[in-house]
Amino acid sequence: MDGLMTAVVKQYPKEGADIVKKEIPKIGPDEVLIKVKATSICGTDVHIYVWNEWAKSRIKPPKTMGHEFVGEVVEIGENVTSVKVGDLVSAETHIVCGKCRACRTGNAHICENTLILGVDTDGAFAEYIKVPESNVWINDKNMPLEILSIQEPLGNAVHTVFSGDIVGKSVAVIGCGPIGMMAIPLLKRTGAAAIFAIEPADYRRELAHKLGATRVINPLREDVVSIIKSETEGYGADVVLDFSGNPTAIRQGLEYIAKGGRMSILGLPDNEVSIDITNNVVFKGITIQGITGRRMYDTWYTVKGLLKSGLAEDLKPIITHTFPLTEYQKGMELMIKGQCGKVVLYP
Ligand code: NAD
Ligand code: ZN
Repeated sequence: MDGLMTAVVKQYPKEGADIVKKEIPKIGPDEVLIKVKATSICGTDVHIYVWNEWAKSRIKPPKTMGHEFVGEVVEIGENVTSVKVGDLVSAETHIVCGKCRACRTGNAHICENTLILGVDTDGAFAEYIKVPESNVWINDKNMPLEILSIQEPLGNAVHTVFSGDIVGKSVAVIGCGPIGMMAIPLLKRTGAAAIFAIEPADYRRELAHKLGATRVINPLREDVVSIIKSETEGYGADVVLDFSGNPTAIRQGLEYIAKGGRMSILGLPDNEVSIDITNNVVFKGITIQGITGRRMYDTWYTVKGLLKSGLAEDLKPIITHTFPLTEYQKGMELMIKGQCGKVVLYP
């Protein structure tokens, strides 16, 4: 397709981004062109926008930002067989090689050669995006667009929550940012016995409460360890899920985790974290598990099934703000202040 489109582009290696008119992407034989209908802002987009240390080391401007989206297929490459023009689609954002050991053993989410949409390639904060056929996910056309646009981070939450048993377990959710807060309805819907939501930001604690957390804790003012112990007959939480990357919160999690428990960590601390391995890991017999991205494509199928089972409705309070794409800066400011759940933009 020829012509120009509007896009939010990181043009220069410094803070900010620009609204730019640029060429609609040209697809190759194995690619699909998608007209973006809704795109949501991820913490990674904020890191690129504010130009933090990670962004400086990873991003090569100019790049169209954004990677969480839903849109309609408008053109397909000559080799494409599984997707057709008119399909309503989203995309897995990890573009993997399919050839390395991880990929060949069913672990493509930790592919050696991963490229990320909107990080290493041009992204979704635009009227059009091109994606390899193998990354395209065909959606149910009856689901709300805002919910379909957040399936990628929802997949992170699903991968973290369901990497072990949940039914009847007491679960601590550390960090109720956009991803952590999605864990709450998931836990509620699948029968967790108790959900402790730990979050310093007032706005997000309130949202966690609304979403159904059984006990919401402010780690800056309350004693997280004794609260969780006292609410679990002294045993501690069976499952601890970290969505904060905060070193103190992770260390506390290892204090209140029950013996034999599971800690799954999605959050990314900026630096090394020191922990008491002897007392809090070995003698407690716990499992610590790192979570990267989404299992391809098991997590996507689970997300689809959960949305159909009623999760789409449960998630609605998480979409707190929507703006036209050209007002993306308003969304960035809210994300920086933590005064929001998910922010969705419409090109
Ligand atoms: P976010 O930064 O918006 O959320 C983190 C939340 O943790 C914030 O609400 C913050 O207030 C809260 N927090 C800060 N200190 C805390 C403390 N002491 N106790 C409890 N909560 C605390 O990020 P997000 O977009 O929701 O992502 C969650 C985390 O997952 C981030 O660290 C992000 O970098 C990481 N991430 C990892 C992957 C992966 O594949 N592993 C993918 C996406 C995001
Ligand atoms: Zn690979």
